[in-house]
Amino acid sequence: MARRWSARFYQKLASPQAIAGTVIVFALFTVVICALILLQTRDDAVSRARDTSRNLVSVAEHDIERNFEIYGVALQMIVDRVNDPEVAKLPWSMRRDLVFDRATSKINIGAMVVLDAKGNVTMDAESETPPKVNFSERKYFAVHRDNPNVGLYISGPYPTRLHPGSHTLVLSRRISAPDGSFKGVALIGIDLQYFRKLFGSLSLGPNGLVALLNRDGTVTMRYPYSEDVIGTNVQDDDVMHRFNTEQEGCFWVDSKLDGVRRYHCFKSLADLPFIIIVGETEQHIYTQWKRRATMIGSLMALLIVGLFSLALALSLQLQRRMRAEADLSLLAKTDGLTGLSNRHMLDEILGREWRRARRTRNALSLLFVDLDWFKSYNDTYGHQAGDDALTAVARCISDHVHRPTDCAARYGGEEFIVVLPNTNAEGATAVAQKIRTAIDALRIPHTGSVHEHVTVSIGVSTLVPTAPREIGAVIKSADEALYRAKTTGRNRVVVAETPEVEVEEVAEV
Ligand code: GH3
Ligand code: MG
Ligand code: MG
Repeated sequence: MARRWSARFYQKLASPQAIAGTVIVFALFTVVICALILLQTRDDAVSRARDTSRNLVSVAEHDIERNFEIYGVALQMIVDRVNDPEVAKLPWSMRRDLVFDRATSKINIGAMVVLDAKGNVTMDAESETPPKVNFSERKYFAVHRDNPNVGLYISGPYPTRLHPGSHTLVLSRRISAPDGSFKGVALIGIDLQYFRKLFGSLSLGPNGLVALLNRDGTVTMRYPYSEDVIGTNVQDDDVMHRFNTEQEGCFWVDSKLDGVRRYHCFKSLADLPFIIIVGETEQHIYTQWKRRATMIGSLMALLIVGLFSLALALSLQLQRRMRAEADLSLLAKTDGLTGLSNRHMLDEILGREWRRARRTRNALSLLFVDLDWFKSYNDTYGHQAGDDALTAVARCISDHVHRPTDCAARYGGEEFIVVLPNTNAEGATAVAQKIRTAIDALRIPHTGSVHEHVTVSIGVSTLVPTAPREIGAVIKSADEALYRAKTTGRNRVVVAETPEVEVEEVAEV
C-alpha cells in the first residue's frame, strides 16, 4: 500500500506539469531573491551617500570653526588694542600696525576696520587715511550700539562697499568706553572666496551641492556658485523647518533652484550661527547601482528565459516519452487485431482475480468462446475476411462485458476468454447467452456453417472460492464445456457440469 502510494507520488512528482511548475517556482524564487538583494544594495547606495555627505559636513565644519576661532581672537585683539591707553599714546602709523596685527590679514580677511560711535571709519588696515565711509545703517552697527552684551556678531553676506562685485561676511565686536558707553565697532570682513574655495575642494560628484546658511535663512555660500543666490533668504523654504528644529539630519529634497533631486545632509554648527548642507544628486548616488542592477537584471532575465526554455523542452520531451510509454504499455496488453486484452494480460488478470476470489470468497466465472467452423470460413472467404469477422465478434463480446473488473481477452486463434469476477454460474450463463445471441444476430454470412452465418459456441465454468482447485482447472473445465457445446450442435452455451459447492451469490448482469 505504502509502496503504491509512494510510486503514485513519484509519478506525480515526475509529471511534465510538476517539473515545469517546479522550475517556474524556482525561477520566481530566484527573481524575488535577486530583487530583494538589488533593493538592499539600492539602500546601501543611499547609506554610502549619507556617510560621504556627513564626512564632508565634518570636514567643512572643522575648517570653518578653526578659522572663525582665529577671526574671533583677531577681533578681540583689535578691540583690546583700541582701548589700550598705552597704544593710544603711540604715533598714528605705529598704532595702526599694532591694532591690525598683519599676521591675521593672510587668513582670508578682506577688511579690518574700526568705526567710531557714529559709524564713520576711523581706522582701516588697508590705508593710512581711512576712507570717508559711514556704516551706521548696517545692522551689526545698530546691534552693537543698542546692546553692550552681544559679543561677537556675525552678519549675513554684504556686497562689499570697499570692493564692489564681491561679498563679505562681517564679524564685529562692540568697542565700549571705560564707563560702558558705546565707543564704536571693530569689524573684520571675511571674503566669501574662502567658503567658495573650501566648498569647491569637497568632491561630491557632478552637480553635488554644498551650502552655508545663516541660521536666519540667509544663503552665505552655495557651491556650485551663483552670484544671485548669495544673500537671498530661504526662511520660507519647507526644509528650513528641519534646519531650525534638528541639530543634524539627512533627507531627500528637490531643489527649487535647479530642479535636481538631492540627498541632503545638514548640521547646525554649535558655536556659530551657521548651517552646513551637503547634497549628493540622486543620479550620482544611483549611477553605480543602476549599472549593476542593469547587468544583474539582464543576466537574470537571460537565466529565466533559459530556465523556462529548458523546462518547456524537458516537459515536452517527458510528455512525448510518457505518451510513447503509455502506447507501448497498451500494446503490451492488447491484441493487435481485435483490441481486446492479449494472452499475457489475460494470465495476469486471471491470476489476480483468482487470488481475490479466494480472499473475498466470491465466485469467479469464465466464458470460453470459440467461433464455429471458422477454418471453413477462412477457406471460403479468405484470411482478410476471417480477420474482419474475428474483429466483429471481438467487438460484440466486448460490448457485453460491462463491469470494470470484467475482462474480455483473445486466448488465441479464434478463441476468446471472458473473465467475470464476483459472478456465479447463473450470471455467467446469462452473459454467455447474450454474447452468443448478439453474434448470431450479426448475421455474418458463412456458407460453411449449418446456420449459414457466423456463430459461436461458449463453455461456462465457475470457480467457487472454497474449492481447492487451481485456475488452470477452471479453464480446462470451461474448455470441456465448450467441447460439449461443439459436439452437441454448436451455436450454444454449455455450463460445466460439476461446480464443487453451491454458488453463494447471484451476480448482476
Ligand atoms: P470448430 O467449429 O470445431 O471450432 O471448427 P473450426 O474450424 O473453427 O476449428 P479449428 O480449430 O479447426 O480451426 C480454427 C481456425 O481458425 C483455423 C484458422 O483458419 C482460423 N484462425 C485462427 N486464428 C486466426 C486469425 O487470426 N485470423 C484468421 N483469419 N483466422 C484464424
Ligand atoms: Mg478453436
Ligand atoms: Mg472454432
